[in-house]
Amino acid sequence: MSNKLVPQHVLIVGAGVFGLSTALSLLTNPAYKQTRITIVDASPALPNPHGSSVDASRIVRADYSYKHYSKLALEAQQLWRDTTPDGWGGEGRYHEPGYALTADEAEGGRYVKESLATVRRLAAEDKNNRWVDVSKVKELKNPAEIRAATGYDHVSGDYGYVNFNSGWADAEKSVAYALRRIRQVGGDRVVVRSGAHVARLLVSAEQKCTGVELVGGEQIHADLTIVAAGAWSPTLIDLQGRCLATGQTLGYVAITDEEVKAMQDRPTFMNLSSGMFIIPPRTRELKIARHGFGYRNPVKIPRKSIDPDFLNSNLDQTKNEYVEVSVPKVGIPIPLEGQKALREALRSMVPQVADRPYSRTRVCWYCDTPTGDFLITYHPRYKNLFIATGGSGHGFKFFPVIGNKIVDAVQGTLNPELAREWRWRTDAELAAAGFSKDFISCEDGSRAGPRGMILEEEMAKGEVASRGASRL
Ligand SMILES: Cc1cc2nc3c(=O)[nH]c(=O)nc-3n(C[C@H](O)[C@H](O)[C@H](O)COP(=O)(O)OP(=O)(O)OC[C@H]3O[C@@H](n4cnc5c(N)ncnc54)[C@H](O)[C@@H]3O)c2cc1C
Repeated sequence: MSNKLVPQHVLIVGAGVFGLSTALSLLTNPAYKQTRITIVDASPALPNPHGSSVDASRIVRADYSYKHYSKLALEAQQLWRDTTPDGWGGEGRYHEPGYALTADEAEGGRYVKESLATVRRLAAEDKNNRWVDVSKVKELKNPAEIRAATGYDHVSGDYGYVNFNSGWADAEKSVAYALRRIRQVGGDRVVVRSGAHVARLLVSAEQKCTGVELVGGEQIHADLTIVAAGAWSPTLIDLQGRCLATGQTLGYVAITDEEVKAMQDRPTFMNLSSGMFIIPPRTRELKIARHGFGYRNPVKIPRKSIDPDFLNSNLDQTKNEYVEVSVPKVGIPIPLEGQKALREALRSMVPQVADRPYSRTRVCWYCDTPTGDFLITYHPRYKNLFIATGGSGHGFKFFPVIGNKIVDAVQGTLNPELAREWRWRTDAELAAAGFSKDFISCEDGSRAGPRGMILEEEMAKGEVASRGASRL
């Protein structure tokens, strides 16, 4: 699609943050008032309970070591702060009790310091305290200060800071809200199809993407196809060396009304040295999770399903037939390793609940890029194919604004700094930055825990029932 031509029909694969935000942006942009939009998602139910955009909570913070993301997060936060019923933050979707980031100085301390410096710099630029109120940002130089600022008696980390301008959003409610708005605003112009699993992209011999084929054979044609399939994106198009599905561990324990009351107004607590974090509860369930390097789940998938050139070529399709890609596996128990790590963190941070069984656990999938930057760009080879993915464990907070940026990128008007961060890096660029096609982890400086774990190997060492009485 040329930048000047407005597509008649846009097909979006994936009804998570990236896909839905794009749809909303297109539907509210006068330039696209004649455009029809189809959103397809493989999940039979939407919001998709296995998608990474759906959970009890996601952190909304401008606390980044990189200024571009901080600025964009502040833009998003202005919309999260609209708590009228029709605003992003309405009906209990957004809360702002703050965010405390700590580290054991030796490990992870650098990211914390850089993040604090970014927030202070943005606050200094924000003369009227409109976006960042600097009086709500406090450096925490020792465990006693961390305890005093967070309200937790037991804390992990010996250095950090707290930013009471930050908050969190109810992720499932936010996805439901976006779907509702899309239907309200879009009317007849939009079709949302659940249970529509894309088997492959349709790419002609002239290297033009014309839509998708669903499992079952139905074809949907469009002038512009946007792949926003989260951690599954690398199963639709070859993203080797650029995107990688990594599984992250989460556990939930039941708590009482009194415990909810005691914890709900505390800041989110994250220790970057261990990757462990707790988001304050609003229901009788406390969530603990690890922002780590994650598990990979390498699966051999047919090369022709992600490589249209191979499919369209005269090459012997029986040779080099399979490619190994990490593919999300959902609805599974968490491996023993993750179970133990979460339990240990509970013991150190909230010992009073640490011996309770998990009410549920989950392996949730990040779509990681080597640098943690999103991948939002046209495919360099196939016309009319746009990629919007690579959330790298931090994409949710941008829900209210990321679609506008994606549409800017579609039109070729994206701010050059963001366009650079989100570009398709060539193989040579990746190699020069020390990454190979087989990169195994996101190196954005915010990750902790073991590197290079394989899901199946960890499962073989032991697992726990996703519901059950394990107190490991
Ligand atoms: C455990 C965890 C914690 C996180 N915490 C935070 C946080 O605190 N703050 C923050 O900002 N971000 C956080 N993130 C990251 C954020 O949630 C993601 O970056 C964001 O939700 C990604 O959205 P998405 O649209 O790319 O993917 P998804 O929400 O996964 O959506 C992709 C959709 O594509 C569909 N799909 C896939 N393949 C196909 C196919 N072949 N055919 C049709 N449909 C298909 C899927 O069914 C899915 O619904 C976290 C992520 C996880 C997993």
